[in-house]
Amino acid sequence: MSDPVRPKERFLVFGAPLIEQDEIDEVTASMRARWLGTGPKVARFERDFLAFKGGEGFAVAVASCTAALHLSLVASGIGPGDEVITTPLTFCATVNAIIHAGATPVLADVEPGTMNLDPRAVEAAITPRTKAILPVHFAGRPCDMDALGAIAEKHGLLLIEDCAHAIETKRGDRHAGTFGAFGCFSFYVTKNVITGEGGLVLTRNERDAARIRSLSLHGMSHDAWKRFSDDGYKHYQVVECGFKYNMTDMQAAIGIHQLARVAPSLVRREAIWSHYDERLGALALQTPTAPEAGTVHARHLYTVMVDEARTGVSRDAFLTGMTRNNIGVGVHYMSVPEHPYYQQRFQWRPEMWPHAMRIGRQTVSLPISPAMSLDDADDVVRAARAVLGGARA
Ligand SMILES: *Cc1c(COP(=O)(O)O)cnc(C)c1O
Repeated sequence: MSDPVRPKERFLVFGAPLIEQDEIDEVTASMRARWLGTGPKVARFERDFLAFKGGEGFAVAVASCTAALHLSLVASGIGPGDEVITTPLTFCATVNAIIHAGATPVLADVEPGTMNLDPRAVEAAITPRTKAILPVHFAGRPCDMDALGAIAEKHGLLLIEDCAHAIETKRGDRHAGTFGAFGCFSFYVTKNVITGEGGLVLTRNERDAARIRSLSLHGMSHDAWKRFSDDGYKHYQVVECGFKYNMTDMQAAIGIHQLARVAPSLVRREAIWSHYDERLGALALQTPTAPEAGTVHARHLYTVMVDEARTGVSRDAFLTGMTRNNIGVGVHYMSVPEHPYYQQRFQWRPEMWPHAMRIGRQTVSLPISPAMSLDDADDVVRAARAVLGGARA
């Protein structure tokens, strides 16, 4: 076997975040101040995020996007007997949140080009029990929110957006996360803005925001920050049985500075994206569909399709080959019904959503991160060429 494209000691880690001195200093300052829990930095991160998203409504930081989705469903009053329509091409968290709320997930297939929910498939999946549509802005590409919004309105359904990939995403002037009743964001380590673990709910309804804030901390009426502040001790009341889903100042300390660099970080990922588009087109891989005019694509994932009939190389062999060349790769995602739990519980079979199934079996996510240089991107391209051998478009 020939030498790998990159030396082992420079293995290109998939989704490696860019951490700068500002984050390190802010975390250190939190430790020196000995305020590690939910406090002023979380409040500032919420204000900054809301301002970034146009400033209307309310932002509640929580422990994860999974928590944000779960609490949005609970705050919507969605529970046992209710159905929520979502996509099979997503991380298991989207579906698990629906199940945690006690509701029943119903899948509708994606459009093969955009990989987002197909509005016609959504409409076909509506039953008298349907309460909400939960679209995922896949890879950072906005869903067709006009069509989904019209369907939601026509059938009296709630829209809850999974914006885990979609921090920067816009359609026209509107930000992802402001179309529906709730927008749920993730700051997990591989996402576009990170806090280590973390999430946030955006909503325009003040009562929903207050309920989600309370539910994120055991259903208590005052959060701990207010309780122990120098205004004096205040008794708290537990007003309902909530969860332990609060974000901490240690996490927000990272997020504040990550968010301040959201624009240059996107510019860097756009450059890597174009670099890939220009160079991978000559290989027998299918590259991503161009972003639609008038939209901002958050460039969270750069996914290529490895169609064995075209390449002579299976998707899994491609994954192994890239790793051998010291390039970290990902799969986003094997379609949800490929997993045994959902097959057993809901009698789902991957074939029932053929577009999501095919994408899930062919897709490979190449590294795209603000921590990468264009030389790193060249290594990825050279590795792909080496793995595919002579296969040409
Ligand atoms: C990462 C991700 C989630 C879960 O986010 P966490 O913050 O890890 O809970 C949910 N949905 C999608 C589409 C994701 O990619």
